[in-house]
Amino acid sequence: MKIKRLDVFQYDLPFSGGVYHLSGGRTYTSFDATFVRLTSDCGLEGWGESTPFGSTYVAAHAKGVRAGIEEIAEQVIGRDPRHFDRINQSMDEALVGHLHAKTAIDVACWDLFGKSVGMPVCDLLGGSTNEPMRVISSIHGGDPEDMRRRVAEHRSQGFMGHSIKVGTSEREGGPSLDAAKIAACLADRKPGEFFLVDANGGMTVEHALRMLRILPDETDIVLEAPCRTLRECQSLQKRTNVPIIMDELATDDDSIASIIANDLADGIGLKISKCGGLTRGRRQRDMCLAAGLTMSVQDTVGSEISLAAILHLGQTIPSQYLDCVLDVRSMVSGSVAKINAPIKDGGLMAPSEPGLGIEPDLGLLGDPIASFEV
Ligand SMILES: [Mg+2]
Repeated sequence: MKIKRLDVFQYDLPFSGGVYHLSGGRTYTSFDATFVRLTSDCGLEGWGESTPFGSTYVAAHAKGVRAGIEEIAEQVIGRDPRHFDRINQSMDEALVGHLHAKTAIDVACWDLFGKSVGMPVCDLLGGSTNEPMRVISSIHGGDPEDMRRRVAEHRSQGFMGHSIKVGTSEREGGPSLDAAKIAACLADRKPGEFFLVDANGGMTVEHALRMLRILPDETDIVLEAPCRTLRECQSLQKRTNVPIIMDELATDDDSIASIIANDLADGIGLKISKCGGLTRGRRQRDMCLAAGLTMSVQDTVGSEISLAAILHLGQTIPSQYLDCVLDVRSMVSGSVAKINAPIKDGGLMAPSEPGLGIEPDLGLLGDPIASFEV
């Protein structure tokens, strides 16, 4: 099988809740999504997506995704899509870094492979655990009671994990308001629920320590991406007994190897477009498993195509190591692809159809904005 054609599509995914508030005063109202369709010489199509969380979350931006694809497309045309490692090697030789630009192509290769052998991607990644995966909400910063209401809303939809965004500036209430947000979100906690407090690198060590000192000792949370740098996170880790999860600082194999070698975290937030797709996602999953780190499998944001990649990788992680998966559908309005993945029995399962198990709405995506052919 060879890749004959690569088409690029662009679509704006509006944030479902109006304005999304992140630490440091960052706000988002919609997300610029890029989709790749690979067509093989036998007429099969594989799809992938890369949708950065704006330009201020990690070192990624939507125009960069498309410019990067243009830079590497020639390396991919004519190749066997099943040779993931070789394709990634060629993409790396053509363009250093920019993993978010390589993601959509890599994921589309896995979709093609799955369709060509009639197997779901999770089976190609090692096999499904067949266990429903706990789904996490994304509760952006706001008034504590409003955040509590949004947790309840997600709970009623079957979400059993909640990512509480903190990192309020001193002027707006600082550590004490953050502690109040956490207390409000945990107030109606049900058995089996998981609470992750995510500062997206937006707290100083001082801020984090003050916030944690206000909370009762028995508060059961994990702290995600508390500070901007590894040094600050390490300093905080030495002075708290709250488990720490790395996200924005775990960007590639090297940073994860370093986090493991220096025992800097108890878990890693894997995001498909941060990993560079499923080939590197698979490797990072195995590094975490070897080190005994828990994982949440997410993406920066995205549509059903991004969700499918999340679910197939997540579905291969033994449940004691999988904290949760992110249902990106809850973050955006509308739908660009059909996927059979309802939330039930407290979680999500990867689709069982061949490949990713998605069917894009071509009427909605329109014509490709760029195409590359043999
Ligand atoms: Mg995070």
